[in-house]
Amino acid sequence: MKKYGKPLGDLIGIKSDFFEHNDKNLAMADDMADALLAQPLRTECKMCHEPFKGGLLYKSHKMGYYLCEKCGHLSSEHADTDAFADKVYIQDNYAGNYSAQDKENYEKRLDMIYIPKAQFLVDCLKKDGIDVGDIRLLDDGAGSGYFVRAMLKLGADAEGIEISPAQVRFANDMAGKDILTQIDAAHITQAIKDTDRSVISAIGVLEHIIMLDETLQAIADNKNIKYLYLSVPMFSFSAMFEASHQSCYNRHVGGTHTHLFSDKSLQYMADRMGFEIADTWKFGSDIMDLYRFICVCLEQNGNPGAKEIFSQQFLPLIDKLQLVVDESEFASEVHMLLKRK
Ligand SMILES: [Zn+2]
Repeated sequence: MKKYGKPLGDLIGIKSDFFEHNDKNLAMADDMADALLAQPLRTECKMCHEPFKGGLLYKSHKMGYYLCEKCGHLSSEHADTDAFADKVYIQDNYAGNYSAQDKENYEKRLDMIYIPKAQFLVDCLKKDGIDVGDIRLLDDGAGSGYFVRAMLKLGADAEGIEISPAQVRFANDMAGKDILTQIDAAHITQAIKDTDRSVISAIGVLEHIIMLDETLQAIADNKNIKYLYLSVPMFSFSAMFEASHQSCYNRHVGGTHTHLFSDKSLQYMADRMGFEIADTWKFGSDIMDLYRFICVCLEQNGNPGAKEIFSQQFLPLIDKLQLVVDESEFASEVHMLLKRK
């Protein structure tokens, strides 16, 4: 199955912090860039390990990026390391930046963002002959528990593992029961090797894993796992819009995102694991990013009146424009179901 597009709904309401607090968010991303700049230089592609031959493709928000000639994966000039992860995920309290503040926001976000992601997985598995009641899922890097909750709500058996104690507490509080288990980073791979669940999900997770090869190998080696459902950030128009608007907060490349996937690098990854790409759903935030950058720049250059008019005219077009981008195969995000061959 190949699916494109997703209506925006009230996503702008949910992401209003990006519009209203550009400078604060930009400063946070800049700090993370400084942490990454302090790490060793990369010499090879994060995904396929092909040595970099040419120079950088471009620089944005302090950091240079290489585009892999072999697999089209985009990698930052400096390597993500355990020291970087410790700085941005532990010391900087990454959870604090992302967790919804209260129950109402949590439920709104769950229904608007995570139920559609879960429904797509349920539909794909149904097509493969698996009813929702028979799905047994382990969510890796479960964060605040949104995806596990969404799967439970749709009738699947789901649980999650997460390294951050604060996130696990928050998720379990919101659920009113223990849906996530805290596991230290050093033991996550073992938990994947040991699981008897047949579906692993990793929603916005693979891009954050330092030892990515090890995790993918653990999934490949555990024959109980028949499916991997993932969502990753892609090398896309969003990356280019960010590079052309460097006074605006870079949500997509930079911060904790040190590399971006491509259709080709995902195919490479699936092949290496002995999986095939069964289903994809492409819907990005490229046009929403462009919209935000133009609004922020109009504010920055003293044109709030023009921003109001632009906003009124542009907002109704966002879904249509984004669909064109999604169908062009150069959108900022993909959801994908991989199936063991
Ligand atoms: Zn590569």
